[in-house]
Amino acid sequence: MKLVSEYRKSFNRKLISIFLLILIIATSLIGISSYQITKKALTEKGKVVLKNGVTLALALIHSEYEKVQAGLVSKEEAQETIKTILVGPMKADGTREMHGHVDLSEHGYFIIYDKTGLEIMHPTLEGQNVWDVTDLNAPERYIVREQIRVALSGGGYTYYAWHLPHSDKIGKKISYVDYNPDWEWIVASTAYELDFVNEATEILYTIALVTVTLVIFTGYIGTRYIKSATKPILDIAGGMKKVTEGRYRTIPYGNYDDETRILIDGYNTMVESLEKAERKITIKNDRLAYLAYNDELTLLPNRNGMKEYVDQRLNNGCNSGYLAQLDIMGLKLLNLTLGYDQGDKVLGLLGKYLRQCKKDDSYPARTGSNEFSIWIEGVEPQRIYPLLKEIRKKSQQYVIENGYNQMLDIYLALTMYDGQTKSFETLYEETTTAMRTAREKQDLSITRFEESMKERVENELAMRRHLGKAISEKEIIPYYQAQVDFTTEKVVGVEALARWISSDLGFVPPNVFIPYINQLNLITEFTDYMIDKVLGDYQDLVIKYDADLTVSINISPLCFMEKDFTGKIERAINKHNIPAHKLTLEITEDIFIADYKEINKIITKLRELSVKVSIDDFGTGYSSLNYLMNIQPDEIKIDKSFVGQILDDEKAFYMFDTLCNIAQNFGYAIVAEGVENKKQLKKISTTSLKTIQGYLFSKPEPLNTKTPLGDPIGSCG
Ligand code: C2E
Ligand code: CA
Ligand code: CA
Repeated sequence: MKLVSEYRKSFNRKLISIFLLILIIATSLIGISSYQITKKALTEKGKVVLKNGVTLALALIHSEYEKVQAGLVSKEEAQETIKTILVGPMKADGTREMHGHVDLSEHGYFIIYDKTGLEIMHPTLEGQNVWDVTDLNAPERYIVREQIRVALSGGGYTYYAWHLPHSDKIGKKISYVDYNPDWEWIVASTAYELDFVNEATEILYTIALVTVTLVIFTGYIGTRYIKSATKPILDIAGGMKKVTEGRYRTIPYGNYDDETRILIDGYNTMVESLEKAERKITIKNDRLAYLAYNDELTLLPNRNGMKEYVDQRLNNGCNSGYLAQLDIMGLKLLNLTLGYDQGDKVLGLLGKYLRQCKKDDSYPARTGSNEFSIWIEGVEPQRIYPLLKEIRKKSQQYVIENGYNQMLDIYLALTMYDGQTKSFETLYEETTTAMRTAREKQDLSITRFEESMKERVENELAMRRHLGKAISEKEIIPYYQAQVDFTTEKVVGVEALARWISSDLGFVPPNVFIPYINQLNLITEFTDYMIDKVLGDYQDLVIKYDADLTVSINISPLCFMEKDFTGKIERAINKHNIPAHKLTLEITEDIFIADYKEINKIITKLRELSVKVSIDDFGTGYSSLNYLMNIQPDEIKIDKSFVGQILDDEKAFYMFDTLCNIAQNFGYAIVAEGVENKKQLKKISTTSLKTIQGYLFSKPEPLNTKTPLGDPIGSCG
């Protein structure tokens, strides 16, 4: 490829050559044509001078002739006078001067012949006969004979070539000849064309001089101008080349105030915006490169970043370590109820705390939306559990200290690397499996990976695949468990409990499949289905059990907090024409992660519809009594784990009794779950509680069973 500088030369050279060529041609044309015009004009003028000279000479000859006739002078005297006037006096060498009193230009002179060609008067040839003299350029032309002929036939011009006076050079001559009849003389005035055109030649020289000066001057100025005119173009060309090399240079504006300035301005603007665009792209690329390995929210490495780090550690001879995983319980619900900003805030705080834990031997990362992982090296096996618990405790404290006002529950899962060939992917899969198990069991201790978990996880994956079909193909149906007033032995209500009898997997208990329904975002579809099905069964339930029967439906917190949940309930009641006060919705304590105000708004709306709200599994959470201060349910259901303890544990019974009193004082209905035997019932009968739900009276059973006691499947729950 040619360099810009080479182009610069040839481009400028071309422009300048063309410019000079035009200049030279133009001035030459002007010079030559004005030379020609002048030459012609001068020649014409010379010819007139020659003719006038001859006329004058004839007049002089005639007047001298008359003087001779009158006897005033002799013929010789008269003729000598004529010769002296026309050419000059005779010199000692027998020649005459060339110029007499009549000026015929520098080399012009008069000649007189007689009819035989004898020179009567001539500056040098006087007395000689020139009859045979021929043209020096055309030897066949007899010039004197021609002149005599022209003179005798009335006068005129003749043209021929002859020596310049006192020289060997030949010049073109013009002569005018006429005839004097007095002495029968042929009078000729002759001159060289050269004499006439001398002036024209001078003009030519002047023009040539002017041309040369002009060429030099305008050449210099023109070159400078062209260079300055082409400079920006060449600079732009050079600049563009630099742009392709990634160098963005603007061009100085110089003194240009014409289109060139617009051009430079356009170019500079273009280069600046290109540079800006490139800068933006670079920033974007840097960001993309950053985001490929890091998490934006927490500024921790992401899964890729962690994989790179851990694989590099494993390849570089690290022979022991741990991969731990931390998962926030209920983050999804928190996002839904308090908004994603709150969820992000919690994740951000947790990430910030974990970032502080980043040391040589531990490498934290955010490996999933709700999941943090830490790679830990150089820790004794007996230290790893206390260390993880400490990390969890401190991160929980950190989140609270920094403005989030509730305690987070965090699951912990762990797998060990013992130097066997394993990759990050395998280790990650193992912790994820352990984490799944922890979540499923809602186990907040540290869950360590075991090979046996794999099979279970695989079964679960199969279950996930079948769940969608289970709802749409109505494999899931409600069973009903009676709630009995043991004082009257009358069934006062039923709780609907979902049962999945899968054609592929067999019986799957609800506390196994419901978490997956939540994870797969099928919970709304599932709840809608259950509500519709249970309310559809209501009339038959009334027939089967009691006219005053209430029906309880379990509602997942995610559904309860959903927009227009109350609208959905209202529409379902209207559709099935159910007395609203016969419907109870059971919600668990999980829901209290959300804002009380929001929960109360929904409860108030439901109360306006006359639908009741029950707090399920009461007594299992952290601060159950605190909830009762803040929200007003219609009913509380004491959890079966509580009921299970009342026989053996006096303290547990005391609390049971207290709860019943509180409920009574607050005006809430109260139900005891999981009452399995008469001993428990006897103890309960010493309290204010009257309503019992448990295997003692009934197991969950399908609507169409006739048996008073439930099915064997129900006991699996
Ligand atoms: P839950 O709401 O606490 O339901 C009561 C559970 O206790 C039922 O288990 C029931 O079969 C069991 N149970 C009742 N009496 C006794 C007893 O005397 N002894 C023992 N050991 N257990 C008793 P199940 O049916 O397996 O349901 C488990 C959980 O699954 C339910 O707990 C509830 O949280 C959830 N669930 C069931 N159906 C639905 C549903 O339709 N929607 C939602 N969101 N959750 C449901
Ligand atoms: Ca329940
Ligand atoms: Ca319960």
